[in-house]
Amino acid sequence: MGVRAVKFGGTSLASASQIRKCMDIVQAHPDRKYVIASAPGKRSADDEKITDLLYQLYEQRSGDYAHTWSKICLRFTEIAEDLGVDASKVDSALGEIDSHLGPDTSVDYCASRGEYLNAMIIAAHLGWSFIDAAEVVRFSDSGEFLAEETNDLLGEALRTHDHAVIPGFYGATPSGEIKTFSRGGSDVTGALVARATQASVYENWTDVSGILTADPRIVDNPLPIPRISYTALRQLTYLGASVLHENAIYPVRRANIPTHIRNTNQPQDPGTWIQGEPFAGSSLADASPATPQKMIGLAGRTNCLALTVRKVQWSGSLGVGAQLLNLFDEARIAVDLVVTSVDSWTFIFRGDTSTKESVMAKIGSLDPDSMEVRENLALVGVVTTGTLPRAKTTSAINQSLAEAGIDVFLDSSAESMHVVAVDSLRYEDAVRSIYSVLT
Ligand code: ADP
Ligand code: ASP
Ligand code: MG
Repeated sequence: MGVRAVKFGGTSLASASQIRKCMDIVQAHPDRKYVIASAPGKRSADDEKITDLLYQLYEQRSGDYAHTWSKICLRFTEIAEDLGVDASKVDSALGEIDSHLGPDTSVDYCASRGEYLNAMIIAAHLGWSFIDAAEVVRFSDSGEFLAEETNDLLGEALRTHDHAVIPGFYGATPSGEIKTFSRGGSDVTGALVARATQASVYENWTDVSGILTADPRIVDNPLPIPRISYTALRQLTYLGASVLHENAIYPVRRANIPTHIRNTNQPQDPGTWIQGEPFAGSSLADASPATPQKMIGLAGRTNCLALTVRKVQWSGSLGVGAQLLNLFDEARIAVDLVVTSVDSWTFIFRGDTSTKESVMAKIGSLDPDSMEVRENLALVGVVTTGTLPRAKTTSAINQSLAEAGIDVFLDSSAESMHVVAVDSLRYEDAVRSIYSVLT
């Protein structure tokens, strides 16, 4: 018999009735032996996510946090009661957390408690073992995630449990200090469990029927993507598609485990299969010049900045590019895109005013002729099959934006990606117009 690692997202586990749907899914196949749980998400559009409430709790920890805390307690006691889980168990876990709250409580400890409590309740409901991620997901004392130690610890712990529920999103340092991944990080834990158990598949159950060709909050009913390679998905998530955390790809990709994204509310839907290359749907397959590029998907993000630096005679001087990029490294900024012209360099990156100021101060030491920042930019990118021929794709994108009256601050097209930077205010219009012309 095989093993499946089965991760459920926040909306899938938002209430007792949603949790029951998930448990039906788990019990529908004997290979579903390891469940990775998120914290309860929103039950309706105007509801609050438990993790958001926990971040609020952290802000209030030294003062009056009673109101926020009571909302959190109520969600968990309601879920536990409805599922018939022993109330005293949940009350004592809540009491223990409350006793830790105070000025010295860390933000990661607070944020992680949603996954901790939800996984504990689900394990009790199923009668399965609860394995605290603090014991098996390892971070260094400086907060760096330790992949190999985690793989060994998880593998060892799970070998002794036929079935288990593991909270997503967090782990701990050797001394027990809780550390979380970035938001959406339960996807990462799911991938780690899949790798450590050599699962035949990593099932990721969410609230949409797979990866769609565009963000469904912007485009009405975007087409689903039945199959996609890890390479193309990495490109889409890097561009901003938020359905799967970007760090959930590497652990399963290297272990050759496919990921299957599925909809908890429509389990009959085929979802999206993600796997290694080569296979159709890979961004690099079908790279014959005779095959026109096809759009695999489109994604983007707002809150980007562009910094243009100019100095006469810089082009052709050796080492200038490396020096500039080094200064971004020193400012701890990852650059998303670099476009060069004669004697000018433009860097696009994510950040706020302080990010901008720190890097400008550093680049000032190179004594440039001018530095210009453009804020409130959005990047929109299209990932295609194949790398050539590309002229038709770029001209379709640019023409659709011109017809919608959206100016392109810069564009860059290489390999199987076409990226444009536009004003953030026109982000959604740009996504819609590019989508409509490429489908
Ligand atoms: P979960 O809580 O299950 O982890 P997330 O909210 O993290 O789910 O991710 C699922 C959401 O991602 C969807 O509800 C959808 O609004 C959003 N999303 C953005 N881009 C895409 C896309 N290209 N395909 C599918 N969903 C997308
Ligand atoms: N609960 C965490 C968050 O809201 C992690 C996750 O849902 O994956 O970001
Ligand atoms: Mg998510």
